[in-house]
Amino acid sequence: QWIYLNGQFVTKDEAVVSVYDHGFLYGDGVFEGIRAYSGNVFRLDQHLTRMYESAQSIMLHIPHTKEEMQQIIVDTIQHNQLDNAYIRVIVSRGAGNLGLDPASCSKPRVVVIAEALALYPQELYERGLKLGSVSTRRNRPDVLSPQVKSLNYLNNILVKLEANQAGVDEALMLNDQGYVTEGSADNIFIVKNGVIYTPPVYLGALEGITRNAIIDLAKDHGFEVKEQPFTRHDVYVADEVFLTGTAAEVIAAVEVDQRTIGDGKPGAVTNELLDSFRNLVTKDGVQ
Ligand code: PLP
Repeated sequence: QWIYLNGQFVTKDEAVVSVYDHGFLYGDGVFEGIRAYSGNVFRLDQHLTRMYESAQSIMLHIPHTKEEMQQIIVDTIQHNQLDNAYIRVIVSRGAGNLGLDPASCSKPRVVVIAEALALYPQELYERGLKLGSVSTRRNRPDVLSPQVKSLNYLNNILVKLEANQAGVDEALMLNDQGYVTEGSADNIFIVKNGVIYTPPVYLGALEGITRNAIIDLAKDHGFEVKEQPFTRHDVYVADEVFLTGTAAEVIAAVEVDQRTIGDGKPGAVTNELLDSFRNLVTKDGVQ
């Protein structure tokens, strides 16, 4: 396996970074999780736009143009002879001194890892997930925007820990007003009486690229899609619940806080959107 590290392809053992890297010391940096299907990188342009916007927001200068970064990602996939891959792009503030001031970091570090996909087992798509709401709240958008996909994912890790402790597959994260926002790293949708709802991102959700693709697909399939705030109650009484994300694609949730959703099986709308998403990803992308 070859990892891109600041201009070079190195082996996994050689792919190490300084303990003075502020990504390591403070979570100072940004990242993206991207997927390639049969050699096509899905919505690479949108992932790069999100990463450059995250970097702009935290005043991190990525030392490559978007076009160069696109080439680095494609080269990394090819170097590893992968067709279907999960790609992680990381740009950290780089090595500095022990103070948290980014001014001491002169050179951002760029890492690209491309791995063969570790897919969720098919069985999980057929069974559906169990969700549990957690006490950790989504950070407030006026403090740190949820649109910044930074290396500081402690909030999401706390959410995951709570889900593990509760013995559920995934968490349901609320904002400080109690509105549903997203999972630990996936967006959420509910279906009620044939209408599809997802929280508006201003409530505190990352504007997921899968989320946006699903909104468009659902509209193409003739569904009404509403970006509208909702609470846990609306999730409990939904006909269907599903999560979306780069790794998970589209996956049903069949139990939420021990309430069975619908008939306890992945629903027809979820399955229809999963099928059409899997069809889309094979056609759409950068070669
Ligand atoms: N929400 C959070 C907090 C995430 O980290 C992710 C993953 O990137 C998502 C949602 C899903 O976004 P996407 O569909 O772009 O992978």
